[in-house]
Amino acid sequence: MVKAVFPGSFDPPTYGHLNIVERARGIFEELYVVVAVNREKSGLFSPEERLSLLQELLAPYKNVSVHLCDSLIVNFAREHGCRILVRGVRSVPDFSYEFDLSIMNKGLDPGIETILMPTDPKYFVLRSSAIKEVAFYRGDLSSMVPPNVAEALKRKAARP
Ligand code: ADP
Repeated sequence: MVKAVFPGSFDPPTYGHLNIVERARGIFEELYVVVAVNREKSGLFSPEERLSLLQELLAPYKNVSVHLCDSLIVNFAREHGCRILVRGVRSVPDFSYEFDLSIMNKGLDPGIETILMPTDPKYFVLRSSAIKEVAFYRGDLSSMVPPNVAEALKRKAARP
């Protein structure tokens, strides 16, 4: 049984992330979607808010679970018996970043493999950072994020 981890900031989750989840859960028996708590980036949403948005979105999927991790992802993977890290790639700059990250993770734990999934062309422009900007200027988010995330973004944007 091959289990995989899909780690990320998910600040907030987008249709691009969900597409990677859909595809990865069809390949691996179990998928752990992990909100990585980043000590250097304080996000728009707290890690707990991101976890709860993902839990709402992924509740229907029996082989997907959602977690928070404030240590190294390779440690989380090992502790949960996962040998695979799944990451998405939208562009060449993404590839370069993901390649470096995969080499670092390989150095930390050679037993864990990174698998990169190219984005579905429908979602290649979706980026959490750009989506936050659209939300701030009250743009239409319906093609970018699911309704619960759009609502949460609207509430954040409405704050003084
Ligand atoms: P991180 O800060 O760890 O890069 P993100 O939440 O930005 O976290 O992204 C998590 C993973 O999802 C990354 O591998 C990223 O490349 C991938 N990803 C994000 N948006 C998309 C998208 N639209 N299509 C495919 N992969 C994506």
